[in-house]
Amino acid sequence: MVDLKGQYDGIKDEVNTSVIEVLESTAYINGPKVHEFQKNLENYLGVKHVIPCANGTDALQIAMMGLGLKPGDEVITADFTFAATVEVIALLQLTPVLVDVDPNDFNIDIEAIKKAITPKTKAIVPVHLFGQCANMDAIMELAKAHNLFVIEDNAQAIGATYTSKDGTKAKAGTIGHVASTSFFPSKNLGCYGDGGAIFTNDDDLAHIIRGIVNHGMYKRYHHDVVGVNSRLDSIQAAVLNSKLPRLDEYCSKRREAANKYDEAFRGQDQITTPYRSGVDDNHVFHQYTLKVNGVDRDVLAQHLNDNGIPCGVYYPIPLHNQKAYQDSRYNEDDFTVTNQLVKEVISLPMHTELDDEQIEFITTTIIEFVNG
Ligand SMILES: *Cc1c(COP(=O)(O)O)cnc(C)c1O
Repeated sequence: MVDLKGQYDGIKDEVNTSVIEVLESTAYINGPKVHEFQKNLENYLGVKHVIPCANGTDALQIAMMGLGLKPGDEVITADFTFAATVEVIALLQLTPVLVDVDPNDFNIDIEAIKKAITPKTKAIVPVHLFGQCANMDAIMELAKAHNLFVIEDNAQAIGATYTSKDGTKAKAGTIGHVASTSFFPSKNLGCYGDGGAIFTNDDDLAHIIRGIVNHGMYKRYHHDVVGVNSRLDSIQAAVLNSKLPRLDEYCSKRREAANKYDEAFRGQDQITTPYRSGVDDNHVFHQYTLKVNGVDRDVLAQHLNDNGIPCGVYYPIPLHNQKAYQDSRYNEDDFTVTNQLVKEVISLPMHTELDDEQIEFITTTIIEFVNG
């Protein structure tokens, strides 16, 4: 699905030198490389504050803690996403309210959000799924009207750019009140271990969050709030400093591969290629995800595996049907899209090192199968 080795080979000398510098410096935690990365990412995103932390799940949790959400507060998020999004809501004893998604871009459905808002609703968590920006104009408008926080789960879309109705452009993760991202190795900006970050333009919130990631300390050994221990280590920051300047190039390579896949599947009516908004940089293809109809998706997946082609099903079970997140308030009729998508989606290999020959083999194998 990903080719981390191929990508590493292209930056090996630089990364190795930088990692060895960290080893020699012994500044393993909160060293200068972490600070440097924070500044680099703030500049890249055009956001006032980046707070690095240990992983993308922590980043979401810390963002919610920073906003002061309290047990019982309702937080609306998508039914069709990775479990981390809903997990941290539940962990903080907030009430997750899962809603259906859009059948085209797979992102949180605006009408479904409207229906789910109650007097207890405090926040909306849009996930820019598979690298494509959610409808932030509509989400911010709703949030404003109902006085809600917006927490962008940007684990899959770092580097994407959202274009508003009025034409203004902003990087994904800089539009809501706060955002989280992940530097897990297979993400678009991945390090060589775990890592994550929180972004915000709000000075006060940034200050609160900087304390939370460090045991609630604002002054050494003074613990003003209950915090956590969540840090990005210096070795990971060194890797990220080498990769961040290449992120736009990496995103372009993913987009090029996506265009070639699209081209190859054109005219295949059993295959729906990923929705495009018409603005290229709106999607950074963390995943390239097809919908198939008239063929058994699981049999196709098996056929690909038999031919040595990796593929993935993200996600096979709607979150509202997961044991941990069931809620008697949910009604199956409210999840018709997710219930359908879990049966139809299949994600193909997507990374920066895909070549034409690989794409040709993958697409012809699929096309022969669906027509066979
Ligand atoms: C990967 C991911 C996370 C969690 O990130 P980790 O760094 O693995 O904790 C959260 N949300 C989404 C949508 C993700 O894809």
